Amino acid sequence: MSNARFERIALIGIGLIGSSIAHAARRAGLAGQIVGSARTAATVRTALDLGIVDEGYATAPEAARGADLIILCTPVGICGAVAKEINEAGAFAQGAILTDVGSVKSAIVDDVTPHVPDGVHFIAGHPIAGTEQSGPEAGFAELFENRWCILTPTQDCDADAVAKLKAFWEHLGSHVEIMTPRHHDRVLAITSHVPHLIAFNIVNTAGHLERVNDQEVIKFSAGGFRDFTRIAASDPTMWRDVFLNNKEAVLEMLGRFTEDLTALQRAIRYDEGDTLHRLFSDARTLRQGIIEAGQDTDAPDFGRQAAAGPEKAEPPED
Ligand code: NAP
Repeated sequence: MSNARFERIALIGIGLIGSSIAHAARRAGLAGQIVGSARTAATVRTALDLGIVDEGYATAPEAARGADLIILCTPVGICGAVAKEINEAGAFAQGAILTDVGSVKSAIVDDVTPHVPDGVHFIAGHPIAGTEQSGPEAGFAELFENRWCILTPTQDCDADAVAKLKAFWEHLGSHVEIMTPRHHDRVLAITSHVPHLIAFNIVNTAGHLERVNDQEVIKFSAGGFRDFTRIAASDPTMWRDVFLNNKEAVLEMLGRFTEDLTALQRAIRYDEGDTLHRLFSDARTLRQGIIEAGQDTDAPDFGRQAAAGPEKAEPPED
């Protein structure tokens, strides 16, 4: 791994992901100093009180000034505006690396690139690690361990800068893969975005029923529904921005999903038990592949690990 240490890391946005980066970078000795800014003074105060940042600022340019690594950890929809604000204040240091953690990549590359001055290396990124929690208190150093982080550098990105950012994520515990923004968005549409949409939808459908069914939806939720509610508890602002910024891929995958759902509906209607058994067996095999790849365990999950703290909590949604 090449040198992954930075003198001043600026986190713009200090929520679950920003604070987890701070914890993990500190633990790995990757930062001389970690500073940050957020939308509200309350978050900056909390981040200072918890020792997540050494210095906290009210604005992104103040935090970014003099940093050799700037990480945009805000909701996807405002990354372009934040980069613009930093650039207009002349706060990007020559030679700095600018990256982000947004769950969508093409839109962020399009929005941020026009505001990156010459001599600053913009390399978009996305750690495929998260929980349904938000805010600076939710972060923990182990979040990225054994998880993938996708980097989507453009062709003219400086190779040394890409190698350094790759080494940074590897020191945080991640495996790094490089791909195009468009490919990232298609893969994540099916592995993350559409599953979240299904969770939001099924929880709301049940919620509407719940009013007539006198709490039975909550009482018997262990039958599968409860797992959807955990995913559906994810931050609404973050997910609004994901869907508004990855329309094309999400709508394509949703079309495929709808076709497959119709096929299942048809198999049920016409008593096609063999079809149902084959499709469910295929799904079970895919799950086995995820376990064999070390991305989950096959331990029975009764929803109790979360109560034991973040170290044991069921990992990523994103
Ligand atoms: P979060 O916990 O809600 O934190 C978001 C942070 O952004 C907060 O500190 C918030 O400040 C700040 N922020 C919001 N608007 C801002 C603005 N206009 N200017 C400056 N700061 C602003 O969110 P998160 O889960 O860390 O997600 C952050 C990013 O990571 C998103 O782009 C998301 O797509 C991506 N991501 C999330 C996950 C996941 O599972 N959560 C996983 C991978 C990637 P306040 O607290 O003051 O509002």
